[in-house]
Amino acid sequence: MVDEKRLLGNFLELVTIKAPSFQEKPVAEVLHDMLSKMGLSVHVDETCGKTGSNTGNVIARLEPSRGFTEWVAFSAHMDTVAVEREVTPQVKDGVIFSDGQTILGADDRAGIAAILEALEVVVGKALPHPGLELIFTVAEEQGLLGSKALAPDGLKAQQAFVLDSSMEPGYIIVAAPTQYKLFWTVQGKAAHAGVAPEEGISAIMAASAGIVNVPQGRIDAETTANIGVIKGGKATNIVCDRVDIQAEARSLEDAKVERQVEAMSQAMRKGVEEKGGRLEERRELSYPGYRMSEDAPVVFKAIEAVRRCGLKPQLVSAGGGSDANILNSKGISAVNLALGMEKVHTPEERISVPAIVKAAEIVLMLMSNA
Ligand SMILES: [Zn+2]
Repeated sequence: MVDEKRLLGNFLELVTIKAPSFQEKPVAEVLHDMLSKMGLSVHVDETCGKTGSNTGNVIARLEPSRGFTEWVAFSAHMDTVAVEREVTPQVKDGVIFSDGQTILGADDRAGIAAILEALEVVVGKALPHPGLELIFTVAEEQGLLGSKALAPDGLKAQQAFVLDSSMEPGYIIVAAPTQYKLFWTVQGKAAHAGVAPEEGISAIMAASAGIVNVPQGRIDAETTANIGVIKGGKATNIVCDRVDIQAEARSLEDAKVERQVEAMSQAMRKGVEEKGGRLEERRELSYPGYRMSEDAPVVFKAIEAVRRCGLKPQLVSAGGGSDANILNSKGISAVNLALGMEKVHTPEERISVPAIVKAAEIVLMLMSNA
């Protein structure tokens, strides 16, 4: 029932719209127009002040058909990572690429296209359906800002399907980690490195003493940590008085990530203080994790839909966060579904035509049989 030509047409049009994070307005306008024409009530929420984007999240609703009372949400993000020039998509041997100079933007325009196509079928064929609530978010790539800004009491659905994973269609992401960020400032004392080095305290040496003892990399099967940014120093003739460091830790288990953050913090402090430096620390919860059991209703629906589309459902955990993390934290039971995009955030990004068609079929199955 999915119309491959219409789906590809919409997808190719969507990827050519330049709308990186904070500049999603052109996509929001296209969606507003298309969804209104299909008979949905469309509203753009007032979250620009919180997110810094030039548009709010787009929320659209189609009232349940007779016999249904339940509402189900489908979500994808409107932004892409930074893109300097126009995207020129090409289709070759059943695979859609960019011209190699930019990202393709299948992340996450493929999710939007799959939702739109399923909706075209539901509306066009007047299929029975629960209340359909569509949530198109801004600034997902900047730390899930759009979904974080959503007013939870502004949504009707209790369950949501996020379309934003690069695994093969049929994969259902039932768990995702909690992530914390650590911002460290190591304070030393400046001095002339040639005239009076003994009067200084090198923040670089103090930071190093901490860093070598910070547990990082793969900590266990569910936990990882990384020091990703280090900045400091002005000139070789000055004993460095300040180093700024950013690190992260994530785990599928909350208790583990909290232990990990504590271990990193203590190791850093000990090293820095042994060298006479001073450590300032700020911790930030980037996003909370989620873990859904196999018999959770939202998971059960996803399994059924995948099966009925002729695929084997694969329940997996993700290594990173998505809008599903935030929806879950707002009390909406959400899983992330795979679209089959590959090498996202790179000029080699691609998606196969069969993958995007399958994704749309799964969404259609969820919309009309949910
Ligand atoms: Zn994405």
